[in-house]
Amino acid sequence: MAHMFVPGPVDVAPEVLQAMAQPMLPHRGKEYEAIHRRAAEKAQQIFYTQYRVFIGTHSGSGMQETGIRNLVEKDVLSCVNGAFSERWYDVAVSNGKSADRLDFEWGKAVEPDALRDALKKKHYEAVTIVHNETSTGVESPLKELAAVVREVSPDTFILVDAVSSLAGSKIEMDAWDVDFLLTSSQKCLALPPGLSLAGVNDRAMEKAAKVQNRGWYFDLLLMEKHRVKNSTAMTPVIPLVYALDFQLDRILAEGLDARFARHAAMSQRVYDWAEAHGMTPYADASCRSKTVATIGNDRNLNISDLNKFLMEKYQIRIANGYGDLKDKTFRIATMGETSMQDVDTLLAGMEAFMAQ
Ligand SMILES: *Cc1c(COP(=O)(O)O)cnc(C)c1O
Repeated sequence: MAHMFVPGPVDVAPEVLQAMAQPMLPHRGKEYEAIHRRAAEKAQQIFYTQYRVFIGTHSGSGMQETGIRNLVEKDVLSCVNGAFSERWYDVAVSNGKSADRLDFEWGKAVEPDALRDALKKKHYEAVTIVHNETSTGVESPLKELAAVVREVSPDTFILVDAVSSLAGSKIEMDAWDVDFLLTSSQKCLALPPGLSLAGVNDRAMEKAAKVQNRGWYFDLLLMEKHRVKNSTAMTPVIPLVYALDFQLDRILAEGLDARFARHAAMSQRVYDWAEAHGMTPYADASCRSKTVATIGNDRNLNISDLNKFLMEKYQIRIANGYGDLKDKTFRIATMGETSMQDVDTLLAGMEAFMAQ
C-alpha cells in the first residue's frame, strides 16, 4: 500500500474501506438512522463536547461557509496565518460579510495579545481561527485564544477550523468554550474525503435563528431539524457514514490520549531528524504542528526528484511546500494511521536519497 505522508487525503485502512462496501439504505429509515446516531454520538467524544455534532456530506470548506452564513450577520474577524485561514477570510468576504483580517507572518501562530488588541478596537460577532495551519505546519494556542475572546468580548462567537488536527491533537470544545468547531474526514480521521463534521453549541444555534439569509444547503436550523431525527436534509454520502461509524470505533479503541501521543511523538521524530540533518523546522519550536511537520528545505533537495525516488523505492510520498513555500519547504504529515515504523522507513529513504 502506498503510504501518503501528505496532509490529506491520507491512507485509509483496508478494513475501513471495506466498511463502505455495504448495501445502500434509505436515509429516512430506522437502519440508517441507527448508524447515523451512533456515529454522531461517538463523534461527540472526539470533539470533547456534550453538544451536537453535525455530519456534513461535503468537504470541510463547506463547514467554513456554514459557520460564516449562520453565525455572522455582518462583522467578523479572521485571524490569518496561512493559506487555510486566508481561505476562511475569503469565504466571509464572498458571502458579503464585512470581514477584517488580523494577519500574522506565515510560520507564526495566531497571537493572543494581538487578538486581544483587535477585539478591544472593534466589536465582532465572530472570530475565525484555524487551529492547525496545514500550509505552514503551525498549531495556534487555541485554548489561550478562546480565553482572550471570552475575556475581552464574551458574546463574540469562536469559530475554529481543526481540519488537520481534530482527532490528532487534543481540542476540548466545551472546556475551551469553542462555539463552532469543524473538521474533514480525509485528514486525522483517516477516512476518504467527502465528509465533514461540525460541533455546534446551543448558543450558536440560538444566534443562527436570528441571522438572515443563511441560505439553504448550509442552514444550521434545517440541519438541526433532520439531525434530531438522526439523518440529514439531503441524501447523505451513506458509504462514508458507514466508514465513519466504523473508524470512530477504531479511534476510540486506540484511546484518544494514546492517539495524540502517537502523533506528537512522530512529528517530534521528524523535527529532530530534520535538525540533525541541517534543516530547520519552518515553525517556531513553541507552535509546531503535531500532525504535519513543515521543514525548511535548507539543503536544497529537489523535492520532485525526492518524491520520485521515494515512490519507486518505497511506494511512499511526502508533500511539497504550500503555495509560495513550494520547494522552499516540504511537509511530512504524521496523521491518521501513520506509525513510527512508517516514519522510520520514510526518514531512512530520505537519507538514502541524500546520500546519492
Ligand atoms: C485541508 C484543509 C481544509 C480544506 O478542507 P476540505 O475538506 O478540502 O474542504 C481547510 N482547512 C484546513 C486547515 C485544511 O488543512
